[in-house]
Amino acid sequence: MSDDPSPILVWFRRDLRLRDNPALREAVDSGCSVVPLYILDETADGRPLGGASKWWLENSLKALAEDLKQAGAPLILRRGPAEAVLREVLKETGARRVFMNRRFEPAAFDADKDIAHALEDDDIECRGFNASLLARPGSITTQSGGPYKVFTPFYRALVEQLGDPIERPAPRDIRGLNGVDTEALADWGLYDGRPDWAAGFDADAVGEAAAALRLRHFIDKDLKDYGTCRDRPGVAGTSRLSPALHWGEISPWRVWTEVANAVTDGTVTAKQADAFQREIGWREFSAHLLHQFPTLQDRNFQPKFDDFPWRSDTRALGAWQKGQTGYPMVDAGMRELWTTGWMHNRVRMVVASFLVKHLRIDWREGESWFWDTLIDADLASNSQNWQWVAGSGADAAPYFRIFNPVSQGTKFDTDGEYVRRWVPELKRLPDRWLHSPWEAPAEVRADAGVQLGKTYPRPIVDHAEARDAALAAFKSLGNEA
Ligand code: FAD
Repeated sequence: MSDDPSPILVWFRRDLRLRDNPALREAVDSGCSVVPLYILDETADGRPLGGASKWWLENSLKALAEDLKQAGAPLILRRGPAEAVLREVLKETGARRVFMNRRFEPAAFDADKDIAHALEDDDIECRGFNASLLARPGSITTQSGGPYKVFTPFYRALVEQLGDPIERPAPRDIRGLNGVDTEALADWGLYDGRPDWAAGFDADAVGEAAAALRLRHFIDKDLKDYGTCRDRPGVAGTSRLSPALHWGEISPWRVWTEVANAVTDGTVTAKQADAFQREIGWREFSAHLLHQFPTLQDRNFQPKFDDFPWRSDTRALGAWQKGQTGYPMVDAGMRELWTTGWMHNRVRMVVASFLVKHLRIDWREGESWFWDTLIDADLASNSQNWQWVAGSGADAAPYFRIFNPVSQGTKFDTDGEYVRRWVPELKRLPDRWLHSPWEAPAEVRADAGVQLGKTYPRPIVDHAEARDAALAAFKSLGNEA
């Protein structure tokens, strides 16, 4: 309990939940009135939200507002430069304290620090908490005190340093403050449905309650086989928690702990749990890397790639974006992304590799398309993974390892379920030809109703030629392939 009876502003950002929310919990436990606030500041942090992110945010704010209303403290929505809005609401409510969960992306981190310093100069207390990562960036260091640049030792150190989780149940009864003006979410026009490009997105998947259900379902049904199914895009074998983790509808601590509990209660083995927990580890690794190497988001982590002879080819880029490359596995992935706002991880690797290696288009073009179209678009995970695929990142796949989109298809979508779902014009082709329709005998294609160049494109590049050209470009940097 604090001696200061004035209300506390809880500034929500990417922590759109009540449970396991340290900023909210501290404010509620103080016994003071709480003013939950969300500020839409589109000019902040250097990069506007992508379209799919705005769609998710709108739905997630609806869910959060409902949960907060039930608990007794309505969510206040305001738009404008964050510091000015905070000052406005502090003045209107008589609050003298702002509690927030930190963001660790470099621009957001610096902006938060500047705002906190400016408010503290005026005797406003600002408290920051970590609600988005298992460990605060900077806390996992090598023996010499520097940041890890390789995943496995980072992960080992992370696991060794994990303490016991702190349980923070969702507050059910929050002392709110009446009479604070709020804007209407609908007036923000985050997603106006014209045209309705998000018709295929799943609104039922958004929000804290949906995330909790998804985690439960995943642990009970899919965790056991995650290690074997996670690479099969035709099977719903992964958690689909990425947008919920990005927007903070669920905490990584809760995910980690419930998976660990599943080992304790015998639902899965430690090995089965580890296959999944390592992926949560990759999320941490990405966030820590970006925090410590701010240019990761738009500059090659390995400077030797600065001289890479990227091609500028708007037609090829457009064909990739629309899922019209003539490579079924690539096209299926890009169409899944456009239709649902999400893409399976194995296919993300295949389409990214195709863009940077087969088409030799700069990874930043792909990163930016993903930024706009993914519901889980995340600065750290997106840039880290694009650089991983491009070969320019930390602990990256070597550039000369070039995915063959046909063999990736036959290996990971053997029965063609994934390609048939997203590229229905090929669905009558036999499995044998499904991933390389141009190799099918003419009569097989005719029987399946496939006319190359008419009903489905011919490949926009030849795999073997593209591979040789990519390797030659790589060698031009002075590397041996
Ligand atoms: P699961 O397999 O169930 O994994 C559980 C969680 O672990 C995920 O929700 C995610 O938070 C984390 N995770 C899994 N794989 C990775 C990974 N390789 N890197 C970092 N975290 C991981 N993920 C994003 O969240 N946002 C992005 O913007 C993003 N961009 C990507 C771009 C490319 C080119 C590639 C290859 C991968 C990208 N990923 C990104 C990582 C990964 O594809 C997604 O996190 C995953 O597919 C989400 O599905 P899921 O929740 O079912 O994952």
